[in-house]
Amino acid sequence: MLYLPKSQPAPDCLAHEKTKADGDYKCGDVLNRLASDFKNKCYLCEDKTATSINVEHFIAHKGDKNLKFDWANLFYACGHCNNIKLAKYNSLLNCTTDADIEAKIRYDIKSFPKELPQIFAIDNAANTYQTVSLLLAIFNGTTPLKKLESANLRDKLIKEVHNFQSILIQYFDYTDAELTEEANALLPQIKLHIGKTANFASFKRWIIRNNDALLAEFGQYLD
Ligand SMILES: [Zn+2]
Repeated sequence: MLYLPKSQPAPDCLAHEKTKADGDYKCGDVLNRLASDFKNKCYLCEDKTATSINVEHFIAHKGDKNLKFDWANLFYACGHCNNIKLAKYNSLLNCTTDADIEAKIRYDIKSFPKELPQIFAIDNAANTYQTVSLLLAIFNGTTPLKKLESANLRDKLIKEVHNFQSILIQYFDYTDAELTEEANALLPQIKLHIGKTANFASFKRWIIRNNDALLAEFGQYLD
């Protein structure tokens, strides 16, 4: 999970909609602002190609207008993740305020077919454990239908990771052969893959962190 601070100030329309009996928290430029702040992807699975996008309440509002129209409580999530989260996870790490969030959860994925992602809590905090538990439910599924969705999500993840690893392998083939110019030509692609806007960026950023040689070479790009 990535640190993605919310843009400020809150969209003007939220205060106005809150005063109405049937106010809409998806008013005005709320959707565009959320898409931009969350880098056009679900903050939980980080799938950029999800076809269902929800405006999610980080803390379930349960009819509370303050929570329902609070800009800080509006998040951008895909339908799969939102449906697994529902109101069951109310003590998660907050990726919009926790600048150290990436250092609290470790990701590990091998690009073999049908491989299951491994996700670990790095510290002992209850909200870190709850966040890891939700992420594992998202990638492994809960109900029979959700397990099918999770399998599709993992297929996308594994293909994406495989593409990224192919570029890394090619990069070191070039540098080992002292083909500096060819290696440098691959750098923009590598930077895009590990940038915060990337599809499944947390997994790729941890591929770099999990390997000393990769970290020495590309750690400088993990801004
Ligand atoms: Zn998602």
